[in-house]
Amino acid sequence: MNGETTQRLVKACPVCGCSELYNQTRTRQYRCTKCKHVFPRSAVVMRAAKPHGWSASHKIMHEARMAKIHEYHEANPDDGKYKIMAALHETYVMVTRYMESVKQTDAEVRA
Ligand SMILES: [Zn+2]
Repeated sequence: MNGETTQRLVKACPVCGCSELYNQTRTRQYRCTKCKHVFPRSAVVMRAAKPHGWSASHKIMHEARMAKIHEYHEANPDDGKYKIMAALHETYVMVTRYMESVKQTDAEVRA
């Protein structure tokens, strides 16, 4: 992927800049999940999404979590996503990422 050239924009809170906004459809307003500021849609600021470059420690953490999922999956190959999530207290995103990486390797082996 070439994520460097196209700058993705995200909706963000005008007070703290956090992009985790709760969309209150009933009141047509957003609420910031970080600073709890409530603001109309017109007040939303657009800012560049955080770049993909992770810090080194984040990357190590990520790899350790992936390795843990891998280990569990090897031992329990019939367990689905939700069983893995429950057994390891992992997030849906992490297990999905793992599953996708496994699928990719399988395809490479078969090719
Ligand atoms: Zn905020």
